[in-house]
Amino acid sequence: MTGGHSAHAPPRRVTVLGATGSIGQATLEIIASHHERFRVEALTAAREVERLAQLARRFRPRFVAIADPSRYSALRDALAGTDVEIGAGAQAVRDAAARPSDWVMAAIVGAAGLLPTLEAVRRGAIVALANKECLVCAGELFMREVRQHRAVLLPVDSEHNAIFQALLGSRPEEVERIVLTASGGPFRSWSPGRMARATPEEALAHPNWQMGPKITIDSATMMNKGLEVIEARHLFDLPEERIEIVIHPQSVVHGIVQFVDGAMIAQMAPPDMRIPISYTLAWPERLELEVPRLDLRAMARLEFEDPDETRFPALALARAALRRGGAAPTVLNAANEVAVRAFLERRIGFVDIVRVVEEALALPLTQQPLASIDDALAIDARVRELVGARLGVIPAT
Ligand code: NAD
Ligand code: MG
Repeated sequence: MTGGHSAHAPPRRVTVLGATGSIGQATLEIIASHHERFRVEALTAAREVERLAQLARRFRPRFVAIADPSRYSALRDALAGTDVEIGAGAQAVRDAAARPSDWVMAAIVGAAGLLPTLEAVRRGAIVALANKECLVCAGELFMREVRQHRAVLLPVDSEHNAIFQALLGSRPEEVERIVLTASGGPFRSWSPGRMARATPEEALAHPNWQMGPKITIDSATMMNKGLEVIEARHLFDLPEERIEIVIHPQSVVHGIVQFVDGAMIAQMAPPDMRIPISYTLAWPERLELEVPRLDLRAMARLEFEDPDETRFPALALARAALRRGGAAPTVLNAANEVAVRAFLERRIGFVDIVRVVEEALALPLTQQPLASIDDALAIDARVRELVGARLGVIPAT
């Protein structure tokens, strides 16, 4: 029997948004290895029909949704002869999130995940949040909904999951600061000249983590860490100046809480997303997980150093947007999503990504107040149009 789990507990009903992605598939692998504890209610994907159909045949969800409406018939044909219900379009993805399940993995990439994730929040589900962009796009409004609907929000991002674990049993007034670690990405020791010529292939070769393309590019610019500061500000209700970033190339320590008495609690684990994912899957319990254990003696040393804010201006930019508040983080996120796409399509260079974001933050609409989720979505859409038109990128669905 696994640690404290009652053998008679009913299976947890789970929904995976972004099931075909890096986080989504890792989540389903863990579910497969503990199949008696979980039952899959719904799965969604953007447009990967084959992969989604394979997952649906294997996990037998009640409902699957594909965001691209033109893929409806392909998905229907791929699932012919099964009793899986099928939907297509953005509304179908929201419907998937709204269906009754106990637990939802929010692993859609980008602000496209905001409305589906909110559907799960609004029915008070346990929401495992991988999709950090929804907190950058509309953090305060999102957290207000979490409180209002008494949803349980569990951080999947490894650093935030580490902080969540390190905070267990403490009171908010005991926390002095938190430290999020950063690997530094593939360009940690590259010169500015070499970075300026970096190709998508080089930026996609992350030293420590296997992830989807968008977050991998974000890790190379270190915008990912900027987004994570904003994410942490909302998840843990801490002011920006009490959230620190240190470069830690080994990616073994993921997050540290420093308390008012000077004590620090750090969470360590191999750099494997299955560990934070499994923590949220069984929360408040832990699952047995067959991943390689850390060998303390083999880790010759653990290094920590300050990030270089000259070569990685994204960090300071994200912090400034967070301090400005209002629509600034929304603009930062939307412009970054378009710029990353433009870089992957070879329309702009690597260092242009952050330049594009900086220019977008000078747009007058950055001053607009954010009174509702609709405001955030309208600003997000407008920035995509403006930046997309300038860079020749067609707005993604
Ligand atoms: P990915 O690109 O591998 O997968 C993204 C998933 O979202 C896919 O299933 C895709 O079909 C779906 N999707 C994309 N656009 C969509 C849309 N418009 N509507 C509906 N579905 C859509 O990405 P990933 O690496 O799994 O990352 C997912 C999220 O988790 C991101 O927000 C990322 O920042 C976060 N995250 C990922 C990791 C990691 O190790 N991969 C770590 C920490 C946080
Ligand atoms: Mg992270």
